[in-house]
Amino acid sequence: MADPRGFLKVRERELPPNRPVEVRLRDWKDVHAHRQDGQPYLKEQAGRCMDCGIPFCHNGCPLGNLIPEWNDLVWRGQWSDAIDRLHATNNFPEFTGRICPAPCESSCVLGINQPPVTIKNVEVSIIDEAFDRGYVTPQVPQRLTGHTVAVVGSGPAGLAAAQQLTRAGHTVAVYERDDAVGGLLRYGVPDFKLEKVHIDRRLAQMEAEGTRFRPGVEIGRDITWEQLQARYDAIVIATGATVPRELQVPGKELGGVHVAMDFLHQANAVAAGREVPDQITATGKHVVIIGGGDTGSDCLGTALRQGAASVTTLAIGKRPPEERPAHQPWPTDPILFEVSSSHEEGGERDYLASTVEFLPGEDGSVARLRLATTEYLSDGRRVPTPGTEREIPADLVLVAMGFTGPETATLTEQLGVELTARGLVTRSDDFSTTVPGVFVAGDAGRGQSLVVWAIAEGRAAAAAVDTYLSGGTELPSPVTASTVALRP
Ligand SMILES: Cc1cc2nc3c(=O)[nH]c(=O)nc-3n(C[C@H](O)[C@H](O)[C@H](O)COP(=O)(O)OP(=O)(O)OC[C@H]3O[C@@H](n4cnc5c(N)ncnc54)[C@H](O)[C@@H]3O)c2cc1C
Ligand code: SF4
Repeated sequence: MADPRGFLKVRERELPPNRPVEVRLRDWKDVHAHRQDGQPYLKEQAGRCMDCGIPFCHNGCPLGNLIPEWNDLVWRGQWSDAIDRLHATNNFPEFTGRICPAPCESSCVLGINQPPVTIKNVEVSIIDEAFDRGYVTPQVPQRLTGHTVAVVGSGPAGLAAAQQLTRAGHTVAVYERDDAVGGLLRYGVPDFKLEKVHIDRRLAQMEAEGTRFRPGVEIGRDITWEQLQARYDAIVIATGATVPRELQVPGKELGGVHVAMDFLHQANAVAAGREVPDQITATGKHVVIIGGGDTGSDCLGTALRQGAASVTTLAIGKRPPEERPAHQPWPTDPILFEVSSSHEEGGERDYLASTVEFLPGEDGSVARLRLATTEYLSDGRRVPTPGTEREIPADLVLVAMGFTGPETATLTEQLGVELTARGLVTRSDDFSTTVPGVFVAGDAGRGQSLVVWAIAEGRAAAAAVDTYLSGGTELPSPVTASTVALRP
């Protein structure tokens, strides 16, 4: 245990400060000032962990991270041991330590009557310190098995599966249709939440371990799924859930109405120094974002950095409560009113706001948006309340209403994998699909979710692939498909 009286001596959470809004809006760099003051408080914060006997945080974290163990090691200043314990369950703490919503903190036992331990900040501090001290080195396999695996999709699920399988001695190639590897971490999440240097240095480690990357190749088009099946002993589908949910209202075809990912993909590419002809930009425009989740919040931060005249986010539902409600008791992960770093930076948020219609201006592009107050019907449907319509200016509309599932046309035609009623890739408990030797991990089988779940499923799918190829495995399997189906 860290400090036996730590949680009594230090009762408040302390986190590194964010950079001032007026400074960070001028660049694309991380909003958080990680490690810039030597983090004198970190030892105290790690020392608040009670090592409470039944650490509910293990269960709150989809990866089963060994949180009390590394809190203790950080408190003792044993950074090398701390990163070993962290890497034992998580391939990429530099991603989760930055952008995980930290359900572990909602289930921290200290959180019953005090603010929970700053688990996520301790996690990112361990991996940052480990990179700085040179503790993150390639784990090259002792021997090669001679088996080959193709991983399709290079988001966190594909990368986790690839790293585990490479370390088990299999020869692994990761195919990615984008021009750069990383999935939504690369072209969805903006730099101000996750600078791309964090992806690149992990990819360098993976390449040194032997994983091969093939960006710019779309499976199903450049190489068929059947060709891939013939070339490799096993396939992991990690193609994400990339089909955007559409908004079926009049005017949706007008110029200036875009799905959020088109806007974010282009903004991320430009931030990375690429040229994007006819880029969709928010500069000088009245921007309306439809959808109040992570994607909407990332559009907000991006639009503000591009110099939007105004940004309004519309959410169709009610404003969530600020405190944990009685029906979502500890240790559940409650749905609360969130203030992301982008919300701190500006913009308006409107709840119970149902979009009714997009209206054109003189040039034929969208200029205004008609909305109405949402009414909840007794069958649970949400509809615009008649008589409450109003209009707001809207030169750029970004539809950030989530994703319906994976793109599956070539998968089913060429490979014959079965889909669920929701259009997701069907998977057994061990993440195998209905086609022998083909496995699925991450959003493609789970539906739109979180980075931490993608990593957990990538690790579990890798263990199943290893068993399929070698008859057994020593790779850990943090989750099964039926247990993860019970979790949000
Ligand atoms: C804007 C945005 C912000 C988000 N913010 C957060 C956050 O803050 N925290 C969090 O935990 N989660 C966040 N998420 C969710 C998170 O990014 C995803 O849950 C996670 O990336 C899913 O990982 P994945 O590996 O399953 O798929 P993805 O990351 O979607 O990667 C799939 C990859 O497969 C590639 N691909 C698809 N089809 C093919 C093909 N046929 N051939 C080759 N390549 C193919 C795609 O190009 C893509 O790069 C966010 C999502 C979005 C859209
Ligand atoms: S990965 Fe997420 S849930 Fe797990 S310990 Fe880190 S912040 Fe918490």
